[in-house]
Amino acid sequence: MIIAIDGPAASGKGTLARRIAQHFGFPCLDTGLLYRAVARDVLARGFRLDDIWAAVSLARSLDPATLEDDGLRAPGVGEAASRVAGIPEVRAALLQYQRDFSRKPPGAVLDGRDIGTVVCPDADIKIFVTATLEERARRRYEERRSQGEDVTYEEILELITNRDARDSGRGSAPMRRAEDADLLDTTKMDIETAFDAAVGLIKRKISQ
Ligand code: C5P
Repeated sequence: MIIAIDGPAASGKGTLARRIAQHFGFPCLDTGLLYRAVARDVLARGFRLDDIWAAVSLARSLDPATLEDDGLRAPGVGEAASRVAGIPEVRAALLQYQRDFSRKPPGAVLDGRDIGTVVCPDADIKIFVTATLEERARRRYEERRSQGEDVTYEEILELITNRDARDSGRGSAPMRRAEDADLLDTTKMDIETAFDAAVGLIKRKISQ
């Protein structure tokens, strides 16, 4: 069984994907880490993020063992990731790894931007997780303040607005809800409520 979870930054999709995977006993792939790792490798070797040749060759030689690096989840890396993620050949280079991961029995949970539309269009379950821009910015702001960062709400709002625009405006595999995906709006939900709602959706789909 393949469970595809997509959505914009700070929608709660990553936490939900991990919780759902744990609940059903499936492995979980946070596909954003793949793009983050390519961006990390590009910068670590001294290339620019718009150097297509460097990004594509590093995507092709990406070592999945390095996806566990703590540094990958740092905020700046997400921005850099969304720049290399706009390069179609980078996306193509990362596709097979994601598909192979999804097809291993007994099943898998994958979260990202294009899982339901491009990576696993035949997924058994597709959920598009969202929340209002203001609520996502509020969550990200509180998260970063609690980590001791000196940021303002307005700065975060602008970052998320720009990231949404880049991710949904790109020509290759833009972020969008698949036609057959269920929408889960978490604006007024805490994580427990969102998790219960997602499990409810999945159980209803399985019993249909
Ligand atoms: O989800 P996360 O914030 O880690 O993703 C970082 C960036 O990677 C996203 O902003 C997006 O540009 C890109 N990404 C993507 N397709 C995916 C997952 C992530 O384009 N399936």
